[in-house]
Amino acid sequence: MKNPIWALMHSVRGRIYAAMAGSATSYLLNLAAMVMFAYNITQPQALTNLTWLLICLLLVAASTVLRLASFTISHLASYKLEVDLRSQIADKLASLPLGYITEHGSGRVAKLMQYNVTNLHAFVADSTPMLAKLYVAPLASLLVCAVFSWQLSLWLITGLTVGFVVLSRAMQGHGDTSALYEEKNAAFNQQAVEYIQAMSVVRAFDSGSQSYDRLHNTTVEFKELLTRWLAASGHSVRFAMWLFTPLPVLLWVGLGGWWLMHLQVLELSALAVVLLLSGGLVEGIMPLMWLNHAIKRSQVAATDIQQMLAQPSLPEPAQPEPVKFSKTPSIAVENLSFRYAGQQAWALQNMSFNIEPGQIVALVGASGSGKSTLARLLPRFWDPEHGRICIDGHDIRHLSSEQLMSQMAFVFQDNYLFDESLLDNLRLGYEHIDQALVEDAAKAAQIHDFIVSLPDGYQTMVGAGGVRLSGGQRQRIAIARALVQDKPILVLDEATAYADPDNEHLLMQAVAQLMQGRTVLIIAHKLNTIKDADQILVIDHGQLIERGTHDELLAKPSRYSQLWQAYENSQTWLLTDDSEEQRYA
Ligand code: ADP
Ligand code: MG
Repeated sequence: MKNPIWALMHSVRGRIYAAMAGSATSYLLNLAAMVMFAYNITQPQALTNLTWLLICLLLVAASTVLRLASFTISHLASYKLEVDLRSQIADKLASLPLGYITEHGSGRVAKLMQYNVTNLHAFVADSTPMLAKLYVAPLASLLVCAVFSWQLSLWLITGLTVGFVVLSRAMQGHGDTSALYEEKNAAFNQQAVEYIQAMSVVRAFDSGSQSYDRLHNTTVEFKELLTRWLAASGHSVRFAMWLFTPLPVLLWVGLGGWWLMHLQVLELSALAVVLLLSGGLVEGIMPLMWLNHAIKRSQVAATDIQQMLAQPSLPEPAQPEPVKFSKTPSIAVENLSFRYAGQQAWALQNMSFNIEPGQIVALVGASGSGKSTLARLLPRFWDPEHGRICIDGHDIRHLSSEQLMSQMAFVFQDNYLFDESLLDNLRLGYEHIDQALVEDAAKAAQIHDFIVSLPDGYQTMVGAGGVRLSGGQRQRIAIARALVQDKPILVLDEATAYADPDNEHLLMQAVAQLMQGRTVLIIAHKLNTIKDADQILVIDHGQLIERGTHDELLAKPSRYSQLWQAYENSQTWLLTDDSEEQRYA
């Protein structure tokens, strides 16, 4: 397989090569200075003619300038890479089926954008120039040593080889462990992000203990891995690493040099050069190993990003036909079957129904029966396996995203608000719309009074994710947003789920306003909100089992009458529930 790091970096590859070349050249200039110094200092006339010293200084100066330049280039490349990757990921996200995030979790996508990209940034900025230097250094140094004394170089290489054998025996199994380390580290990161993002849900439903246990277990596994790693790589590794420090190497070269001089095959000047170079030579070997870890880590990060970028985008026609939709379009669902990726069971099976222009159709069924799945197939979160959905007779897969979205607004249970002003949130994507029109929508959605009661009114900033608003308020804002967008088709999935007795009638009024004159598919488990629908479809285990109006369905023994009975019973105790507005106040 092509190296994932290099494949991702094609836009800055030239700069990275320049930085690496600069860094390697800088090292070579420095090496030349060292050799000149070591050679000349041992010559008899060393202190009478100092030209060589001046040349050495010039070489060192040039080397320093080049090194700084190469780091500047690599840093600039890493900034560009960071921007490139983040926008590539963002573009990809925009073209992926909306279901991708639903399936993969926002934590994982956020981790790609943050942790993985930062990792590659650090790799390009700091590691690439170092890498070039660390590869060039031992080779060039050995070559120079060989020129001065091949015998002593051979002696040095023998010593290094012994050192490598000792080190590799000590490090056996280290590679597997470091891959495992990466895996556990990534798992921990992802769970931490999700734990924090889901905090509100976590607190509400399991007082944090269950979710915390998951995170805690991951942390413990991580700790155990590190402990095992440390134990496995104890004293033998530390001894092997010590072998690659200057002192043992200088002793080794000194010993060999003394012997070779004794045999009269080595001059003092050659010994001086080799001594000076060998110290620096080994100093690069350990960092090279650490750097290999960094490369592995970056490879994992790069592979994840590549996999995300390689996900198939939502297939769209290259040249969508121009379509003229009617003012209130019809929807036809034909023999629709769908199952989630990797699942055996069908989430929806062979479903067919029509929504006539301007009709309100409600989906009813037990939790998990497939209502939300169906609602999400309309805006193409995913495509069905069999059958099709048509708007005004056009298969939605033959429309461009723009065409489809120009016809459809959706309000789901959880509505994301951006960390912007309320006004900007309300006219998201419709920035040209007058504030007066936005306020009309807010009034219709019964949220205007609340907004103007805030100190900054429509300019009030919403916390990221809309955390400073209650669920009911967020839903009313989403409804107002849908009113601003004024699309002819509306998909509502539990759009009033967060209503409480105090504000439920407000929310219902808002929804009623929104549904007027549109073609609507609505899901609500509070059945009183949908009993006036033109048609009620009852779904069970992904199949359409009953259809009719409220009265028709109640007139005979049906699944719907059971659901209605259960709903009515639940109302008796729901009325004692706390007011949500009060809780958030
Ligand atoms: P409802 O909205 O009626 O409660 P859903 O449409 O959410 O039901 O779910 C229908 C079925 O599909 C359930 O069995 C649910 O577990 C499953 N399901 C929902 N979302 C996913 C998903 N992203 N991946 C796999 N299965 C899913
Ligand atoms: Mg649902």
